[in-house]
Amino acid sequence: MAEKEIDGSSLVAMCLARGGVKHMFGVVGIPVTSIATRAVSLGIRFIAFHNEQSAGYAASAYGYLTGNPGLLLTVSGPGCVHGLAGLSNAATNCWPFVLLSGSSDQGYTGRGDFQELDQIQATAPFSKLSIKATGIDKLPGLVFDALDFAVNGRPGGCYLDVPTDVLHQTVEVSVAEKLISDVEAQMKLRKQDDLVVESSGIQKAAELLRRAERPLVVFGKGAAYSRAEDELRKLVETTGIPFLPTPMGKGILPDTHDLAATAARSLAIGRCDVALVVGARLNWLLHFGEPPKWSSDVKFILVDVSEEEIELRKPSVGLVGDAKKIVFMLNKEIKDTPFCFARNHPWVEAIATKAKDNVLKMEAQLAKDVVPFNFMTPMRIIRDAISNLGSPAPVLVSEGANTMDIGRAVLVQMEPRTRLDAGTWGTMGVGLGYCIAAAIASPERLVVAVEGDSGFGFSAMEVETLVRYQLPVVVIVFNNGGVYGGDRRTPEEISGPYKDDPAPTSFVPGAAYHLVMEAFGGKGYLVGTPDELRYALAESFSAKKPAVINVTIDPYAGSESGRMQHKN
Ligand code: ADP
Repeated sequence: MAEKEIDGSSLVAMCLARGGVKHMFGVVGIPVTSIATRAVSLGIRFIAFHNEQSAGYAASAYGYLTGNPGLLLTVSGPGCVHGLAGLSNAATNCWPFVLLSGSSDQGYTGRGDFQELDQIQATAPFSKLSIKATGIDKLPGLVFDALDFAVNGRPGGCYLDVPTDVLHQTVEVSVAEKLISDVEAQMKLRKQDDLVVESSGIQKAAELLRRAERPLVVFGKGAAYSRAEDELRKLVETTGIPFLPTPMGKGILPDTHDLAATAARSLAIGRCDVALVVGARLNWLLHFGEPPKWSSDVKFILVDVSEEEIELRKPSVGLVGDAKKIVFMLNKEIKDTPFCFARNHPWVEAIATKAKDNVLKMEAQLAKDVVPFNFMTPMRIIRDAISNLGSPAPVLVSEGANTMDIGRAVLVQMEPRTRLDAGTWGTMGVGLGYCIAAAIASPERLVVAVEGDSGFGFSAMEVETLVRYQLPVVVIVFNNGGVYGGDRRTPEEISGPYKDDPAPTSFVPGAAYHLVMEAFGGKGYLVGTPDELRYALAESFSAKKPAVINVTIDPYAGSESGRMQHKN
């Protein structure tokens, strides 16, 4: 009797399962539907989206939260193009990700086949590795390569192209098994990039911190990704050095820690003389490490898994390697010759005093109940409702201009990897995808999104996905009727033949976003007063079911471009 054969789709699914993939995100269609159905039959959970863009954002955040590559499945041509959003977002944020896309039949290349595109070329600018399986026998090696490259070294996106004809080719089961086990054996031999950190670098870094007058520890989402929280806590608490998290570094140590310099950010970065920066780039988010925000003679100690990153920034000391391991080594070095900045050391005290003053000023603003809502009043109510939840803290997804900026200052992060926002690229429209990823990656946590109506609108249809999978996600929409809110044009700007059109920044006023959720059977709330908001939060947080809370905000509260007006 002839041996049973399997096709390329089944082989891809088998390789993914054997490669440890537990979840996939994507949109099915020609030629990849069978990959998804076979993967499900092998125990991989496939989260089916409406749009590859959101699915891609979900896969990218999943990579960050779990440390395993987020897998995005797309159809050929336009599906792959939509998937570029997720691939590029993962690349820019340094998150592990694999885009697996069907592509047109190799037999018709260049002749206008169905959804034909040179996908290797299209994906190359955004991926660490762009590879095409030209025959069924190549699939196991390439699937394992893509999964491995995504996590190895600096995490990032990889692309694997699976042409239609390859997915339809067949191979005997025993041959498929042998192909996979051969690759598994090779993978075992492949050395992970385990960078050896020179102990002289560690000594130099410890010495710089010890001799500093105004040291600061800065950490970012690379440190969160590396799960360096215990080591960073030990470092901060044994040395007494104040710390400053980047937006997604928030929560590595609790925002409420007495050494947190978040509320004294300008003072901390403007006056520090030695900054230990762990898993965060000195890019626009950290003002390039240059004056006027930083002092011109600050000495940087950079810890990053990427040698390229260290070379680019030219710090006083560069330590290439995994953040968790390096901070562990630093702690060991410091233990041998300990030092500690007392809480009444002038620098530590100056930061604590400034932080306290700024918090008091903000609390005074937050204390007022302003109706119609500005951004502060509902943000305070949300903050209080979240802190009542205790541990495990919810994953907080945040996007929008004012909504994200004000949310970053007001909402409190107590646990690592519980904040997802627009990130390195300032990408808007990530919210729903990130919510879905967070619910899948951190099933023990509630997910709360606090986002502007503009951010929500990018992918509002994915609320159906929330309902379909019954995910514990509460989406709070700050509805001020547009991008930045109401029409802020000057009288001179309102001219020309289309002057009666709505402003480019406006949406339909009073849009009933809560009904979008109700259309699919989820729970919707429309709120405009503190009591209504408190009720909606209490009910939806305890129900742990998909909900949209549509919060009516004064369209003229906040400012255009939030805190980024200088770039507009
Ligand atoms: P943030 O937005 O929080 O400032 P960035 O995304 O700019 O953070 O920087 C994260 C940095 O962390 C990247 O340069 C990346 O190479 C680095 N990184 C990623 N994984 C690790 C790791 N395991 N150990 C150390 N650094 C890492």
